[in-house]
Amino acid sequence: MEERLETLDPEDWQAYAREVHATLDRAIALTASLGHDPVWRPVPAEIRAGFESGVPREPSSLADVLDETWATVLSYPLGNRHPRYWMWYMGASCLTGALGDFLAAVDGSNLGGGNDAAVEVERQVLRWLKEIIGFPPDAGGTLTSGGTVANLIGLTVARNRMAQGNIRENGLSSLKQPLRYYASDQVHACHQKAIELLGLGNRALRRVPTRADCRMQTAALRAAIAEDRAAGYSPACVIATAGTVNTGAIDNLRELAGICREEGLWFHVDGCIGALARLSESHRGLLDGIELADSVALDPHKMMHVPFEAGCVLVRDAAAQLQSFSLGSEYLESMQRGVSAGGWLFDYGIQTSRGFRALKIWLMLKEHGANRFGRIITRNIDQARRIADRIDAEPRLHLLWPVTLDIVCFRFDPGGLETAALTALNIEIMIRLQESGIAAFSDTTVHGEHGLRIAICNHRTTDEDLASALDAVLELGERLCKERSVSEPAK
Ligand SMILES: *Cc1c(COP(=O)(O)O)cnc(C)c1O
Repeated sequence: MEERLETLDPEDWQAYAREVHATLDRAIALTASLGHDPVWRPVPAEIRAGFESGVPREPSSLADVLDETWATVLSYPLGNRHPRYWMWYMGASCLTGALGDFLAAVDGSNLGGGNDAAVEVERQVLRWLKEIIGFPPDAGGTLTSGGTVANLIGLTVARNRMAQGNIRENGLSSLKQPLRYYASDQVHACHQKAIELLGLGNRALRRVPTRADCRMQTAALRAAIAEDRAAGYSPACVIATAGTVNTGAIDNLRELAGICREEGLWFHVDGCIGALARLSESHRGLLDGIELADSVALDPHKMMHVPFEAGCVLVRDAAAQLQSFSLGSEYLESMQRGVSAGGWLFDYGIQTSRGFRALKIWLMLKEHGANRFGRIITRNIDQARRIADRIDAEPRLHLLWPVTLDIVCFRFDPGGLETAALTALNIEIMIRLQESGIAAFSDTTVHGEHGLRIAICNHRTTDEDLASALDAVLELGERLCKERSVSEPAK
């Protein structure tokens, strides 16, 4: 008998096909029934313990491994695909996107570059995203793991472009004047990571105070730039936030673009939350001025619900992006013909090997069309505004910040409680709703005020989901107050 070559392919393709089909059916059934299950449940201790076991040395049947996966992994997700998940700002995923991840892996291409269709798909997705943001088609850009890396790339190009001399060759110590970046005090934490990784140090990122509506105070920005120039620093870049993670506030992009033009600074927009609201016909005006940016970070895995990971950075001047990342390695020289004739996508970012994350975005945009995403984004923003109206009308609920996008910050306040007790009460409400599987939202503190935060970035959320969650907040708040007054001795 001929000996079979040991590979990673199955011995019996028909049996394999049955397993894969059953898995797909299960995935479809699970997604079709979302909303009837709890938003979240904790991983039981015995299942957690299973993850402690060592390297499996010998093969198992795929059927067994898949059964185990359903029982131990897919039964205890974070919950963001659920219609009543409004916690950290993230997308709710979708099956077509999951198919995209699957097919990308089936295709197997490495998107570092090459002469293949996958490279064309990424280029097309980038052109689509440029069109959505209002960037010229010949702008640079790359798909990234998420907004963190997208911002890091944007801030790197800004640094290399704004520094005097060849910073790639000579490093930071060759700079006569230290660079300064500016962002509002609501800036996302990933910018601190970026500025530290860039070797500039956290203090090089000046946090400009925000107004009561959480938008950057532009007069304070102008003053900070002037102060830095006088002190011998070299102002390099303004980071505007288009949708802050706390409240969804959008800096005045057009005005900041103007300041950057006057001052000769790089204008970077962190649009991880809000940039894709350009797809919403009724709310796209909120992003007015984003098209003037030198670089924009955006996150299809948020408002577009592409499964993780899918981020993107666009850089108006493609040459500047190449000058920051291209190495022109000899063994990777492009040929006129053959497999390497396609050009290198890794010249636009940090990674060498790259996943085919473009395919899921491409599939989702083709299936649904940009306008459907726009309508869903519009609905989420409108839902946030209606929830804010109801909060305004409820005497025991208190709206904390103006609603710009799809984020609502509020507090249950029965009156007469000290600040610490009020914070503890609201945290208890939040955790009990999570633990009971009713709804998941977060809390936050802005300008010293603590509150609960509902981020409705979710294509499955109905008005009824939101109304019943607010009912639950009120009911639970009342009950906790009563329990407390029973357990506290009368004065
Ligand atoms: C989510 C977010 C980021 C980070 O993006 P990731 O995709 O999580 O890496 C950056 N900025 C803002 C405003 C965000 O909301």
